[in-house]
Amino acid sequence: MDSHAHIDDASFDEDRAQVLERAARAGVQQLVVPGIDAASWPRIAALCQRHAGLAPAFGLHPLFLAQHRPEHLDALRTWLHERNPVALGEIGLDFYVEELDQELQHYYFDAQLALAREFDLPVIVHARRAVEEVVLTLRRFPGLRGVVHSFAGSSQQAERLYDMGFLLGIGGPVTYPRAKRLRQLVATMPIEHLLLETDAPDQPNAGHQGERNEPLRMLDTLTVVAELRGEPCEAVAATTTANARRLFGLPEPH
Ligand code: ZN
Repeated sequence: MDSHAHIDDASFDEDRAQVLERAARAGVQQLVVPGIDAASWPRIAALCQRHAGLAPAFGLHPLFLAQHRPEHLDALRTWLHERNPVALGEIGLDFYVEELDQELQHYYFDAQLALAREFDLPVIVHARRAVEEVVLTLRRFPGLRGVVHSFAGSSQQAERLYDMGFLLGIGGPVTYPRAKRLRQLVATMPIEHLLLETDAPDQPNAGHQGERNEPLRMLDTLTVVAELRGEPCEAVAATTTANARRLFGLPEPH
């Protein structure tokens, strides 16, 4: 199960069915597809209706700040109410891209966290160069649950997230030998807080730099995670899939 794949991205327009097919044949049968801006929601909803195994999340992603308008928050409430997504996402803070106004990012992030609580939905959180700020913000919204995707923080920050009931999404970055801190964390973290993801088409694995990432590659990430932990791949696959199904309330695929 790929807990984070932007399979609606235009880079999959030519061969989306084949990409999904080869992932499913290799055992990656379920994908959570997070929204990025209001324009992405109808596209994702339509895709998830067309393809079994795809589950939608709707949200306003901090990287697309220029597209967001305050009225999109009202539209999001309607979408959450009428469309039953499995999560609210992708939301969060990105302090890596300097042009993105941090105050405005906070405006949308905080408003969406309040919506998640109102609808009792898990959140899919983006936290680039902003893990500390995200942890502090989540603290102001007790009772939330969710995943900090592509986690790149410290083990102390990870523990504060576990304490709040959050999971960590682990993907391509862990396959790079130079990612020492992340690999150390993944080797020893409690497995009940671990989710596997690709973030396709972004964040390709080691050896695939510059290529379009796809859900099938989650299996390479799985192999690395299992090796780091000294556990069988099957066990890590079964547990992380169960974690994702529990968080997002997903059924077993048919
Ligand atoms: Zn993403």
